[in-house]
Amino acid sequence: MSHSTPALTEADRLMTVCNSCRYCEGLCAVFPAMELKRSFSDGDLNHLANLCHNCGACYHDCQFTPPHEFAVNVPGTLAQVRAESYAHYAWPKAARPLFARHGTALAIGMTLVTALFILGLVAANEPGALLTAHLDDARFYALLPHEAMVALFGAAFLWMLLAVFMGARAFWRDTGTPQTELRDHTQATLDAARLRYLDGGGMGCFNEDDQPTDRRRLWHHFTFYGFLLCLGATSLATVYHYVFGWEAPYTWHSGPALLGIAGGIGLVIGPLGLLSAKRARMQELGAVGFRGMEVGFILMLLITGASGLALRVLGETALLGPLLALHLGAVLTFFLSMPYGKFVHGLYRYLALSRHARDMRIALAPKR
Ligand code: SF4
Ligand code: SF4
Repeated sequence: MSHSTPALTEADRLMTVCNSCRYCEGLCAVFPAMELKRSFSDGDLNHLANLCHNCGACYHDCQFTPPHEFAVNVPGTLAQVRAESYAHYAWPKAARPLFARHGTALAIGMTLVTALFILGLVAANEPGALLTAHLDDARFYALLPHEAMVALFGAAFLWMLLAVFMGARAFWRDTGTPQTELRDHTQATLDAARLRYLDGGGMGCFNEDDQPTDRRRLWHHFTFYGFLLCLGATSLATVYHYVFGWEAPYTWHSGPALLGIAGGIGLVIGPLGLLSAKRARMQELGAVGFRGMEVGFILMLLITGASGLALRVLGETALLGPLLALHLGAVLTFFLSMPYGKFVHGLYRYLALSRHARDMRIALAPKR
């Protein structure tokens, strides 16, 4: 079967070799999923690539890795296919080049530009508030009226939702629009929540050498649950505002603040661990040409978490204005970049896990 990119062609070759060998079938979901097929379309290979958690176990277990003439490198090849799949499914098409350019400098630059834009809005609204807003009881809104915040973030959020939905729909269609049931999604949610397939079949994840550990999974968990807690803080604050009429800022022992502090700590520890693991990671296990996208995404999370915590600690000082602008700039940049960066890997992996749960349920059902 012909494929649309060299990475997909190589993935097809490797899956044919692995399907004959099957030595790694107990390591993760990729090999059992591969065994259900004899030939692979682009959609099948993108499904397998997003099912792979890049634990590296099959690279270290394989007797055919380079310099063997078969040159089998499943994690590296699937990482390349996976990274290219993010751009392939992105919506609108014109935004696809952003994945290759979505680097560290772009993430930091966009955050600063957005923060400056917000500072400009503050200056236009109430110039004197920038360094004195902390003296005001309604200090957030002395800087930026609530309506302006809602309009700015609501528009960015809706755009993000639309673009992410369109990308996910294209991915789902290309992988065959599988007819999943609630139990498949329950299984996929459990597998995603504990990162089941990042454990190298029970040994741990290989990162810088041939000694597996659980550290990479731990950093992912700090990041993922930190993000969810921050999302919970924002959602609860919205309920406080619109349902109870309680306006921000909230005391440190209120629900939104406690969730935000816990989430912010997760979004600092997790990304720092991931950056350190990425710096040490064996190059053979990663995709070529997408390092900037990956580091940029982790940095965005780190800046968002750290600026949110700094706002909590220093929110009653004259730094409130600049810190609020930086935090809002980071959140707005994060929203806008979500459909065009590494964020989509969580969504596509969840969809791949859902299809896998459904495929295995059908394959293992007793035959009548
Ligand atoms: S990665 Fe290597 S050892 Fe594992 S199934 Fe493929 S060919 Fe066999
Ligand atoms: S790197 Fe890990 S998750 Fe990916 S195919 Fe190999 S064993 Fe499976």
